[in-house]
Amino acid sequence: MLKQSHAISEEMIEWRRDFHQHPEIGFEVHRTAGIVADELEKMGYRVRRGVGKTGVVAEIGEGGKVVAIRADMDALPIFELNETEYVSQNEGRMHACGHDAHTAMALGAAKILAGEKINGRARFLFQPCEETADEEGLSGAQRMYAEGAADGADYVIAQHVDPTRPVGTISINEGPSGGGVTSWQATIYGKGGHGAYPHASNDPFVMLAHVIMGINAIVSRRLDPFEPAVISVGAINGGFTENVIPDKVEMKGTIRFTSLEVEKRIRAELTRVFEIVKTLGGDYRVNFLFGGMPIMNDKFVSDTIARVGQDLLGEGSVGPLAKTLGAEDFPEFLRDAPGAMYMLGVQIEGRPLYELHHPKFDLDERALSVGAAVLAETALRLLRA
Ligand SMILES: [Zn+2]
Ligand SMILES: [Zn+2]
Repeated sequence: MLKQSHAISEEMIEWRRDFHQHPEIGFEVHRTAGIVADELEKMGYRVRRGVGKTGVVAEIGEGGKVVAIRADMDALPIFELNETEYVSQNEGRMHACGHDAHTAMALGAAKILAGEKINGRARFLFQPCEETADEEGLSGAQRMYAEGAADGADYVIAQHVDPTRPVGTISINEGPSGGGVTSWQATIYGKGGHGAYPHASNDPFVMLAHVIMGINAIVSRRLDPFEPAVISVGAINGGFTENVIPDKVEMKGTIRFTSLEVEKRIRAELTRVFEIVKTLGGDYRVNFLFGGMPIMNDKFVSDTIARVGQDLLGEGSVGPLAKTLGAEDFPEFLRDAPGAMYMLGVQIEGRPLYELHHPKFDLDERALSVGAAVLAETALRLLRA
């Protein structure tokens, strides 16, 4: 499998550099999706374009089980600071999260699988807008899922590049490995007045102080200590000048969790904290917006990926995943099917580390043949399972 992957590594590098030079963001991945769909058609796939606005779904094979491989195609609104020959040509747009490589590797895996006698069907999900959401708050995976992209899939797999680990390694764990997201917005209403006459008003800032303390007691006092969760306040806006007590103060924040039950619990607890302001003579309004599911790696699929990693890359090249409550929209495709996402080492030796989303992020392209081989081999083994 590695040999087959090496044989097409030049082609994957070309694809990756082309996408890197022409980054597109959000759902506006028209050029990238067009190239992806054309290439897949050339390989003999049945291709659906425009799924979830600009996503591409492609399938090959007949009957049997369905293994879906997901790749994201969108870039970020970042001004690239690299000086490579393949630097971004779209000013203020950059593939700083490696989605150019994800797309190129998935195309590589598609090419490998098109040349195999497969037992069942391989389906590729190329999605737009992993990094953000549209005006209705929906991301690329959510839009594609809603249009049936994952219907009938028995397993769904994906990978993400990891600049902290060397080429030729992968990281995978079973269980929770990424946070779900819910954002919230609230307004605390008091009564405005003169800063010198606090008794004639009802200061929303004092209520805010109690609310912030209450929020910070939710994870520590109201949740099971073995349940990872975060509640962060990201914005507080209120007031105009030094001697005026304002009418209200507005807040925005994020909730991260690894189970939907905990998410529900936090909503209830957060709402209860805001009830404090009523005791203090004020009022409040709080709204929640569900942003995405946590990543829950299925045991069987993760074990299969780990075995593939060991067989292809050697003993010691498969490490545990660094767990995080950072979010990914991949798990939207896991609503009806088990699956897993692993991290692929892409570290450039001898270069300082530039993390994902850094304007100098780059990757070692030798990793492309590793990623494509692991995807293709995992798909074959899952279809035989
Ligand atoms: Zn990203
Ligand atoms: Zn990413």
